[in-house]
Amino acid sequence: MPGEDPYTPTESHYECLGCGKRITTTETHLTCPTCGSTMQNIAVPRE
Ligand SMILES: [Zn+2]
Repeated sequence: MPGEDPYTPTESHYECLGCGKRITTTETHLTCPTCGSTMQNIAVPRE
């Protein structure tokens, strides 16, 4: 993706089960920064 650091470690996409917020991070077992609910790892479609 344009502007992304090419040396960034593998990231995962997470979606909040509470409010639906989506984030991309290298962390695991997250809680939502907005509402504190569990973040679920979601698959990222590739073209
Ligand atoms: Zn949330």
